[in-house]
Amino acid sequence: MGDFILEMRGITKDFPGVRALDNVELKVKRGEIHCLVGENGSGKSTLMKILSGFYPYGEFQGQIIFEGKERRFKNIHDSEAAGIVTIYQELALVPEMTVYENIFLGHEIRNGRFIDWNRTIAEAKRVLQELKPDLDVSLKVKDLGVGHQQIVEIAKALSKNVKLLVLDEPTSSLNEDDSEHLLRIIKELKNRGITSILISHKLKEVLEVADTITVLRDGKLVARLERKEDFKESVIIKHMVGREIED
Ligand code: ADP
Ligand code: MG
Repeated sequence: MGDFILEMRGITKDFPGVRALDNVELKVKRGEIHCLVGENGSGKSTLMKILSGFYPYGEFQGQIIFEGKERRFKNIHDSEAAGIVTIYQELALVPEMTVYENIFLGHEIRNGRFIDWNRTIAEAKRVLQELKPDLDVSLKVKDLGVGHQQIVEIAKALSKNVKLLVLDEPTSSLNEDDSEHLLRIIKELKNRGITSILISHKLKEVLEVADTITVLRDGKLVARLERKEDFKESVIIKHMVGREIED
């Protein structure tokens, strides 16, 4: 298989009255942290919703090549089965359920007809061991802070054998410490061979973790930055807004 785990080609998506994406290309290398940046409304979330099957095949133009094969995802389950897990800003956890129930919700560990709770708890602890060892898996999710809820989402992704993790503005509502912890986790996942796409408007953190940066502006791809000399806030902002910015 080639260098790229994901290639999205010629992606165009229209909403009534607005072309959200116009012939966009996104090429993500196997094992990298790929940052997707752009001003509000530039099309980042829409591109990721196409990747996840939220907008299914037929509701956009273009091609998704994942692990060397063209994929036509019908829904989010389809993309998750292929190993693509997206974590949205609005978390998809069930607040009234415990951490371990949430991690295995929808893919419970069974012993015949019954859920094997002992194994479920042990597995949840194992997955969390590497992310946040001191997190109590029997707490209800509603009693956790946003930073810890974010980690439970990642644990859920890991329990599903994620190959490509997509994080849409994960640190926008996190404090400094939780943001740092999350970025460290993304880097650790990279060491384990998991590819990430990170959407963020915090350029400092983008520059800290990115291997490649794709910049969207008004639904168009305007830059793909790979050379370290381009990894500067001034360069990224110039592409984001389409003109030079005075210092
Ligand atoms: P970003 O995530 O970069 O802020 P979005 O992908 O959310 O941008 O939005 C891109 C464009 O598409 C914007 O003009 C937005 O208003 C529009 N858009 C996004 N989702 C919808 C939708 N469900 N219906 C209509 N327009 C939408
Ligand atoms: Mg968005």
